[in-house]
Amino acid sequence: MAIARAVPKQPALYVVATPIGNLADITLRALDILKSVNCVAAEDTRVTGKLLSHYGITVPTLALHQHNERSGAQKILGLLAKGASVALVSDAGTPGISDPGARLVNAVRAQDYPIIPIPGPCAAVTAVSVSGFADAGFLFFGFLPAQRGARRRELETLKEQSCATVFYEAPHRIRETLADLTELWGSERLLIIARELTKLFETVHRCALGEAIAWMEQDPNRQRGEFVLVVEGLPPEWKTSHDAEDRVLETLLKELPVKQAVRLCAALCDAPKNALYRKALAIKEQSAAADVPESSHST
Ligand code: SAM
Repeated sequence: MAIARAVPKQPALYVVATPIGNLADITLRALDILKSVNCVAAEDTRVTGKLLSHYGITVPTLALHQHNERSGAQKILGLLAKGASVALVSDAGTPGISDPGARLVNAVRAQDYPIIPIPGPCAAVTAVSVSGFADAGFLFFGFLPAQRGARRRELETLKEQSCATVFYEAPHRIRETLADLTELWGSERLLIIARELTKLFETVHRCALGEAIAWMEQDPNRQRGEFVLVVEGLPPEWKTSHDAEDRVLETLLKELPVKQAVRLCAALCDAPKNALYRKALAIKEQSAAADVPESSHST
């Protein structure tokens, strides 16, 4: 088995994953690289400074975060041009995964310098590994939009996937995200709430979406820390019932005003009124657009 050399021999960008909590989760290869590069580009040099000093590593650091990624990339290209090797790290986990890194990687690739991944911890993959939901694969979404309307639109487009979906969430938004998920994806879908992974208060809780908020409210500590949510994919038999729901709504809308159609459809299909109302408006809009004669589109 051929093993890639850990010690940089040539100017290259090493994209290095670091622990998501437990410092012992760093890989031997990551330590070798961090010890031997000429410079470490870090999202927050204070956070990375703690990791480096924990392992007795002294290497110059420079800041590369979302607000200076473009100018930081130019600095790093300058270092590579002088023959230096650079490691990119984020505060925790794998750079470029809901973290800065993509712009730098693209800038370095454009100049044809080697880019070498040094794999390791990632909160999404860690949570998926204990979810039991990824038989049919998973979609990594990351952070949902903070603004309610945009978040709900995004959730509408994601809800019928057969694979699991992985979200990152901050403690101050976890409750509202769970509420939106429950309302739009149905209270019976299963999820994993993975909190404080690899840390002292690590919690991995599996429940139905409809039970999640009550579980959190039982103990204020359950609302603290860092979260990954893994929601199971839409079971195929539910997809069939969603299709049936759409057909009922469409049929009722042909005969009745929107409010009445929604009320009847909600009662017949045991479906949430809000989601049906939005769907009804969309159906109405589509059919109104289809009814406009072609000539009226021309200017
Ligand atoms: N690049 C990182 C990775 O590879 O996972 C993710 C960085 S992103 C800015 C930070 C988010 O990741 C947190 O808000 C949380 O959703 C998730 N996260 C990071 N560490 C975590 C942990 N120890 N437990 C649970 N979630 C975590």
